[in-house]
Amino acid sequence: MRLLVVEDDPDLNRQLVTALGEAGYAVDTAFDGEEGHFLGDTEPYDAVVLDIGLPKKDGLSVLEEWRRDERKMPVLILTARERWSDKVAGMDAGADDYVAKPFHMEEVLARLRALLRRSAGHASNDLVCGPLVLDTKAARVTVDGQAIKLTSHEYRVLHYLMMQRDRVVSRTELVEHLYEQDFDRDSNTVEVFIGRLRKKLPADLIKTVRGLGYRLTENPDGA
Ligand code: CA
Repeated sequence: MRLLVVEDDPDLNRQLVTALGEAGYAVDTAFDGEEGHFLGDTEPYDAVVLDIGLPKKDGLSVLEEWRRDERKMPVLILTARERWSDKVAGMDAGADDYVAKPFHMEEVLARLRALLRRSAGHASNDLVCGPLVLDTKAARVTVDGQAIKLTSHEYRVLHYLMMQRDRVVSRTELVEHLYEQDFDRDSNTVEVFIGRLRKKLPADLIKTVRGLGYRLTENPDGA
């Protein structure tokens, strides 16, 4: 899953990017409203963390413009603690949730998990496909209760496929949700990660749909 963090405070921005990276997300970052607006307008993020008080263009305007342009990704806004009016204005502008500053990083992570699982139509933090369980809270994968060791990129591929369970995901879509913006993307590497995942997971869980992409499903005929 790929996220965007728009926060002008350099320390806070770095803390968010570090924590989200450690939690298994690909993270792009912006430090002002114009840059943030542009990225959110042009890249397919799974969720956005958006500060309200930003230079060049304030967070509320950024959010309003995204929504006016039918950008539907979940957005978590960061507000100042005592500004209840920011929270109301933010929710009215199209935010899905908010966290007041100063916050605990765990709260941001939990709220993002909730937004991501809601937007993909999942009820639980545990994504399940047959014997395979991906715990999005602990960023841990098990097969029949046995922990499976994955690299961060393998985890990202599997996380995305499990969020989109039973649906065909194209190689391009996978690449767009796996990598940060400035990463040197080579679609062949997706095939490499899929190949490695197949060796670590029960056979035939990840199916190749010729000419279209991949589908994670326990349904043997892939229907
Ligand atoms: Ca700010």
